[in-house]
Amino acid sequence: MTAKKQSSTIDIIEGKQLARHMTPPSLPAAWPNQLNAYPIAICQLDKNGRFEHINEHCQALLGWEEEGLLGQPLYKHLSPASPTPNQQDFLAHSQTAYTFQHKDERPVTCRLTLLPYQIKDALHYLAFLQPIVEFTSSPYLPAIPETTTHNHIHKQLVEQAGDVILLHAIDGNIQYANPATTLLLGYRAEEVLQLADTLVQLIHPEDRHITRKAHASVKNGQSGVHTFRFKHQEGHYIWLESRVSPLTDTHGKICGFHTFSRDVTTRKEAEEQMQLDLDRLEYLAQHDSLTGLPNRVLFQDRLKQAILQARREQKMVAMLCFDLDRFQRINDTLGRASGDSLLHAVASRLKQCIREGDTLTRPGGDEFAFILPGLNDPQEAVRIAQTLLNSLQKPFVISGHEVFLTASVGISIFPLDGDDLETLLIRAYNAMYQAKEQGKNTFHLYTSAMNVVAFERLAFENSLRRAIEREQLTLYFQPQVEIVESISFDYFSDKPYHATPATTQYKVVGAEALLRWQHPDLGLVSPGRFIPIAEASGLIVPMGEWVLREACKQAKKWQDQGLRDIHISVNLSPSQFQRPNLIEIVASALEESQLDPRYLELEITENIFMHDDEVTRQKMQMLCDMGISIAIDDFGTGYSSLLYLKRFPIQILKIDKSFIMNLSENPNDAAITKGIIAMAHSLDLNVVAEGVQARNQLNYLRSLQCDRIQGYIFSRPIPNDEFVELLKEESLTPHPVSTP
Ligand code: C2E
Ligand code: MG
Ligand code: MG
Repeated sequence: MTAKKQSSTIDIIEGKQLARHMTPPSLPAAWPNQLNAYPIAICQLDKNGRFEHINEHCQALLGWEEEGLLGQPLYKHLSPASPTPNQQDFLAHSQTAYTFQHKDERPVTCRLTLLPYQIKDALHYLAFLQPIVEFTSSPYLPAIPETTTHNHIHKQLVEQAGDVILLHAIDGNIQYANPATTLLLGYRAEEVLQLADTLVQLIHPEDRHITRKAHASVKNGQSGVHTFRFKHQEGHYIWLESRVSPLTDTHGKICGFHTFSRDVTTRKEAEEQMQLDLDRLEYLAQHDSLTGLPNRVLFQDRLKQAILQARREQKMVAMLCFDLDRFQRINDTLGRASGDSLLHAVASRLKQCIREGDTLTRPGGDEFAFILPGLNDPQEAVRIAQTLLNSLQKPFVISGHEVFLTASVGISIFPLDGDDLETLLIRAYNAMYQAKEQGKNTFHLYTSAMNVVAFERLAFENSLRRAIEREQLTLYFQPQVEIVESISFDYFSDKPYHATPATTQYKVVGAEALLRWQHPDLGLVSPGRFIPIAEASGLIVPMGEWVLREACKQAKKWQDQGLRDIHISVNLSPSQFQRPNLIEIVASALEESQLDPRYLELEITENIFMHDDEVTRQKMQMLCDMGISIAIDDFGTGYSSLLYLKRFPIQILKIDKSFIMNLSENPNDAAITKGIIAMAHSLDLNVVAEGVQARNQLNYLRSLQCDRIQGYIFSRPIPNDEFVELLKEESLTPHPVSTP
């Protein structure tokens, strides 16, 4: 067979009109013997269309054995209901749908494909009969009279269509599949008909919701076009664009639906590729190709978003312009490639300094910019700016050279310095140029008044950082006093049990350790000034640990000196309490000092109970199990629920001094104090009143049987040597102090 002849065969199989003028291919005489090897109905006709050979599939299709058909014209076996062409017309068409008559008179609709060929110069035809599931054979479909030309044309249209046409019953099962199904999807019509419930398995899992929805809609009479992936018989997925429309019976009732589907894989792949290209282009348009950081375009967008969010949440946003000092020098001496690697290395270092949610960008050149959203205080921006500058302290190694870099940072804050993008940008740049003028390697805030505050605070924080190592921290102690009433009886009196005037003693039973900072320039700094900064910078953790160890050591020393066995109260900040190693630190402070745990009291504030209940409870329980007492400091000022008093292991309440100070003037405070003491006693808790300064406060608390008094009336917090003197006294004398 020549290549040309071969192509004509392919044409027929693809359903195109046979070119009659083509020379038919030649086949060997013995060829018809092989017909049985083909799994389709196939027969050989002579030049007049009479049967010469009939394979077994064809015999089965028509219901006759070979002998019953030999020599008879094929078209004579057409059904009486089918239009009957003459012999010439019959043989002139390469592909036509005909309804043949089975031996038992049943109609068999087939697509007849005729292929002319030669054997020893004689013309023969090869006829392929491909059965088609009859439209009318479906119980779901309206019966259209077979004889109408209309119906006949429709059938041809459906069968010759290039799109896959499927008829579905209302439950979705396929009733009919046109020949294009095989071409497009690879399944033979019979296979498709048998798919039934398994049809859904051929839809890509991610697209099944589409077909499910389409099915639901079409059952309600709605047409639609849907695109989904369908598994080809060879195992790969192809994209189908499928138009689904309902089918109605003669009464207008929906009895099924049909789908016209075409392969749109090429288009889809092109679309996907285009989307990838667009994404890539968008990425390139928004990112710096050298560092992969967002560029100016994305930066402006992020800043806009951050401002919107800050407006909603009433927060601040800092914008930082960060410019490397004298970077051009690097490019000039080491070359541009080294300059680029250096910028890359700088970007990685800077990235490590920012918080999650902050944006670092490289608008261009040796310039970086940051957006720090969700700030409560400009100081947070100052701290990050300082961290960024510190991160450059270590040299960079580029092409074997050590390179030292510094930078200048300008800071503008929304809403203090402006409430729109342009203003904030300009002001951050202005601030950055001022930082450069100030001699580089520094930061500058746009608002000059804030610069003073920022520098002061930063300087303060830096010196606080060194306070522990420079041994500038010290502990003061304030006594906690128990009121001991003793009544002595005059046994010589006439009247029995006549009490002589009672004696009242004020015994020191404990001390609160209070931190002080002996600053070289500022003198003694009170905790009210530095504890909040220590909390914000995390310095409170090492400081608190130092206090705990010192306080335990001191209490043990008093005992060893034979002074008095009193307990020591140590304040724990919330961040200290939340540290996972709190228990170990407390245990090691006790171990180191050899202080009996029953002399240690830890003061925590109510706010701790707003955090994870169970973890907090377990931690407190572990401390109690060690023999330590827990006191709630500043009771009445924090978290409003009292439920925690029952749920958590607490031994002591310290009434906040704000209630005590106004006891005589404010009846509410008196009532609250009375209530707290009564409630604490009913819960078996001890009460300490803080801030007692006046005689009437003391008397009132005494009448309520308050367990301990702490206040200036007995002593202010004092250094250890003074406190030792106090401990030597049997009883303290109240010295009222007037309230300022
Ligand atoms: P606090 O724990 O409630 O300590 C009691 C504060 O009340 C002390 O202030 C004390 O001097 C003051 N005070 C006591 N009696 C009177 C009085 O009669 N009148 C007046 N006006 N004040 C009185 P101080 O020492 O300035 O400490 C303030 C706060 O600093 C403490 O309040 C505590 O919250 C915190 N603090 C102190 N030392 C430490 C510490 O080592 N760690 C932690 N985390 N916080 C500490
Ligand atoms: Mg306290
Ligand atoms: Mg307190």
